[in-house]
Amino acid sequence: SAARLGGGPVRCYEPSMGERADRRLALIRGFADAIADGSLTVHYQPTVSLEARTVLGVEALARWDHPELGALLPDEFVPVLEATGQITGLTLFVLDEAVAAARRWLDRGLRLSVAVNVSAGALDDSFPPSVAEALARHGVPPELLTLEVTESGVSAEREHAMPALRRLSVMGCRLAVDDFGTGQSSLAHLRRLPVDQVKIDKSFVLGMGTEAGDAAVVRAIVEMGHTLGLTVVAEGVEDGAVRVALAEMGCDVAQGYLVSRPLSAGHLDQWLDSLVREGGATPGPDGPCV
Ligand code: C2E
Ligand code: MG
Ligand code: MG
Ligand code: MG
Repeated sequence: SAARLGGGPVRCYEPSMGERADRRLALIRGFADAIADGSLTVHYQPTVSLEARTVLGVEALARWDHPELGALLPDEFVPVLEATGQITGLTLFVLDEAVAAARRWLDRGLRLSVAVNVSAGALDDSFPPSVAEALARHGVPPELLTLEVTESGVSAEREHAMPALRRLSVMGCRLAVDDFGTGQSSLAHLRRLPVDQVKIDKSFVLGMGTEAGDAAVVRAIVEMGHTLGLTVVAEGVEDGAVRVALAEMGCDVAQGYLVSRPLSAGHLDQWLDSLVREGGATPGPDGPCV
């Protein structure tokens, strides 16, 4: 301790450590109220076909406007909720919001798929029935729901998630491996999973313009994904040159700030409305270009 070091200034104390612990506690304590009081919301980021340039769907992304801490991003609160076991509560909240949104879009004639992120810790035996219940309650066909699991979440060491993944696949839901390229998945392992999509991690896509190595990784994932019969999605598409390069590589789907940032449900509706006005058609597989 500092005292044993001879009474000098206490150098090992970092205020930020205490602050971090306080924030953590505020997150853990505040979560139960956050769902009830509306400070937890879901934003939606569109995904578009690289070939046809049509809007295919959206990814649901959790947002938390904390009463004391302000606007929080999931990279801060998701790991905390995973550690405390509160992640299932978040997952079921986002799932319900996302499926309800898909129903509203269907009612407007928009057949958009919706993707929900699922932590490995939430992939237990009770999850597939919860998904089935949400789909039935809102009247949404299972093929419009994609469940995104990170590469590390479906790694060989995570065998416990396999029954739930298989069940969801049998139900007709789509499965995506998220943040692909950052984990340890081998080709052989990916082949054993009932997966429909790989999402290339944005770190590689963001680097494509400047790092030859990143472009090579992206190209390899596109080719590997297609060899396995998977749809390949690139996240983090921020500029037009990268979009062109991805289209030339044969990548199927793009998601990124170039197309749109994640939007509140209301703003996404406005964005879709403006597409419909400009294109005179309906977003969806056969909809207008963006
Ligand atoms: P993710 O699933 O890989 O989602 C994509 C992230 O990349 C989102 O960050 C999105 O805002 C960001 N992004 C999209 N396009 C671009 C771009 O062009 N440039 C850059 N720099 N970033 C882009 P976000 O919303 O902060 O979410 C971060 C992560 O938190 C997500 O990564 C996901 O792993 C996790 N997450 C979000 N919502 C949930 C949730 O409801 N449940 C769980 N378990 N995890 C969630
Ligand atoms: Mg995701
Ligand atoms: Mg991702
Ligand atoms: Mg990510």
